[in-house]
Parts: sequence; structure tokens; C-alpha cells
Amino acid sequence: MKHDTVQRQPSCQSDVDDSMSFEQARERILNAIAPITARQRLALRDALGRILAEDIISPLDVPPATNSAMDGYAVIAEDLPATGTARLRIAGQALAGQPYGGQVARGECIRIMTGAVMPEGADSVVIQEDVSLDGEQIVVGTGHRAGQNIRLAGEDLARGAVALARGHRIKPADLGLLASLGFAEVDVYRRPRVAFLSTGDELRGVGTPLAAGEIYDSNRYTLFGALERLGIEVHDMGVVPDEPGALEAAFRQAARRNDVVISTGGVSVGEADHTRVILDRLGKVAFWRIAIRPGRPLAFGHIDNALFFGLPGNPVAVMVTFYQLAQPALLRLAGAASITRRRFRVKALEALRKRPGRTEFQRGRLETGPDGTLGVRLTGAQGSGILRSMSVGDCFVVLEDERGPVKAGEWVEVEPFDCFT
Ligand code: AMP
Ligand code: MG
Repeated sequence: MKHDTVQRQPSCQSDVDDSMSFEQARERILNAIAPITARQRLALRDALGRILAEDIISPLDVPPATNSAMDGYAVIAEDLPATGTARLRIAGQALAGQPYGGQVARGECIRIMTGAVMPEGADSVVIQEDVSLDGEQIVVGTGHRAGQNIRLAGEDLARGAVALARGHRIKPADLGLLASLGFAEVDVYRRPRVAFLSTGDELRGVGTPLAAGEIYDSNRYTLFGALERLGIEVHDMGVVPDEPGALEAAFRQAARRNDVVISTGGVSVGEADHTRVILDRLGKVAFWRIAIRPGRPLAFGHIDNALFFGLPGNPVAVMVTFYQLAQPALLRLAGAASITRRRFRVKALEALRKRPGRTEFQRGRLETGPDGTLGVRLTGAQGSGILRSMSVGDCFVVLEDERGPVKAGEWVEVEPFDCFT
């Protein structure tokens, strides 16, 4: 299974590629992924967040029988008056789970509750608020329509239809849908195993005091959160100092048992050479400079048979490169059928600084603008170390390569963070 994860390796000839666009980088990465094929059978609730490894074919009609959508009276449409009123005799009742056994005759109606199976002969329901009771009879007026207030057998899902397709990621609604079809278990793909580590002599773990020049390691926490939400099996390898022996040992160990290794830090101009020497010994890794901001430096390739992402060190650059480049790859690896991005256009509520020649992922908040339509405002300073811009933001403002400065009122593309589960 290990060797099925890397299909095609990025070229190592062009070790440093200065001209790569964001879309090129994304495509190269996606092309290198072969989805996991190993499956496991799980109890329904354990399958939340997992990817279906089978088409789910509906074994029954949903709903299984034509039933009432409202509390009222089941009637025959021809008995409903075109003018004036009609009287219908209440011949019995149908409750949810307790159908009326008989046949409804002309001039009769059946007291019926929401969800109760429609009795034979009746084809419409008049809601209880629209009738008056007179002993054993109802009095009903005009304005009704044949077939009203009923739910037809199979209208939600017909027997034999594909209820959920292979590659679908199971959400809360899907658990309910699968339960409504009677499934107690489903086949899902094995979860990708991802090891992650932080590099840097300056990094300390939380819970320890900081000496001069030290900072807390935050990247392992954002990555943990993002990977967990994706349903990945995570292995936290801790902080590794900028020391060749330690780095080599950590990378080697991480690659041994995992499908993917993600590191942060150590790929920027000042540190890349150092990291490259080690990675050259362990596998095939290309160092890219992608025309994006933040997140320009990125290393991608493989260590042994594991995919490798060397993300930048700056906390926002980590999140941008993870969500935009690593996450789609992980979804594909996991067997997800859809990795499409959800982007839409809104108005910029303020001017945005932007230089042509690179794709920028600025952080914004959606809000209703003065004209009542949805707009976006930046979260403030956009430095790649300012992690709070992700915390208070709710979307990326994606400014495409060729774009220059944006004036207030211009359309811009946004990608809500909640797309990232
Ligand atoms: P590097 O790419 O290793 O040069 O790191 C770039 C910047 O990101 C430096 O200011 C680092 O201190 C910072 N940084 C790197 N790794 C982390 C981390 N795990 N948590 C917080 N900041 C980091
Ligand atoms: Mg570093």
C-alpha cells in the first residue's frame, strides 16, 4: 500500500524552480497522488468523516409508502367541492405506524396524522385547520388540489438508485440518510497516515518557559487541527532542532510508517540548502518557489515511499500552503471524489494592496456592504507571521496572478474557511 501513494515524482532536474504559478504547483502535486485503495468496514457512527469506498444503492423506496405530510383528513379528490362545501363521513383513522386497514369509499374520509400511510382509495389530505367538525362528519370548502399534502413513495429516493456515491465524504446528514436506508455498516477507505514535525532551534513546546530568542511552536497545533478535521490519522513527531543528524533521523522515522510526511520551517532561502542536503540523501524532493503570497518556498517530493511536503515556517504561510496545496492532495489520497474549491465573488469593501505576478491569499471577513450585498474586508495587517489574521478571518481573499491593486467596490474572489471543514 505504501508504494501506491506516489505515482509520478516531481522532476529533480529543476531543483529550484523560480517560475512556478500557484495552479502549476497544485496540478503537479495532485498528479503525483494515487488514492489509497485499502478498505475497511465500519459501524455507521464510526464512519463519520470517512470516505465511502462503495456506491450506496438504496435497497428500498424512501419513503417506503405514500403518506400524509400533515395532520388532517385523507380524502378522495373527486369528493372535494368546486363550489360551496361538501360533507364527508369520518370512517376511521390512520396514525404513524398504525395504518387504516380498509378501503376509502366515495363520501368518506379518514382522520390521518403526519407520517401515517395513506389509506387505499384516498389520494389527498385536507389539513385539520381547513375543516370544521360536525359529529361524525367533516365539512370542507373549496380551494383544494388533488394530491395535496402527501409524500409519494420513493419521492426522496427510489429503490435501486445511488443514494451516495463512492468517494463521498460522510457528513452528519449522510449518517441519517444511511440509517434511513437501514445500513448498520459501510465500506470506507483506510485513512491516510500523516506524520508532521516542526523544525527550528528557536522553537519550544507549550508548557515550558521561553528563553531569550525562543518562541512557542504553533505550527504543530494548526496542522494537528487541520489534519484532524480532515479525518487523517496523525502522528505528531515533535520539534526537531536545526541539526543534520536529528533532522535526518526524524525524516527517516516519519517516512517509515506513514503515507505522508509534513514538515514546517527550514525551506526558506536562508535554510533551504541545509535541508536539501539531508533530503537528497533520503529521497527525491524538489524545492519550489511558487508565485504565491504568503508561502513562496515549498519542498515537495518523497522520502522513501512517503509523500513529503516541506511547508514554510511562518504560521500563516503554513496554513495557506496546507489548505491550498497539501489538503487537496490529502483528500485525493484519501479517495475523495471531489476536491473542488468553493469560491465566489463579492465586493471589496476597502482598497487592497496587490502586486501583479503572484497569487495572494489575503485574509478577510465577509460582511454585508452598504448596498446590501455581501462584501469582504481584510482582517488588518497581512504579515505571514500574523496568525491572528486566520483566527479572526473567515475567508481567503484570493487575488489572482495578473491582478494589480484593488479599489474599494471591485469584485474579488473569496474562499470561506469553512470549506476546509
Ligand atoms: P523558517 O522557514 O524556518 O526560516 O521559519 C520562518 C519563520 O517562521 C521564522 O520566523 C520562524 O521562527 C517561524 N517559525 C518556524 N517554525 C515555526 C513554528 N513551528 N511555530 C511558530 N513559528 C515558526
Ligand atoms: Mg527555521
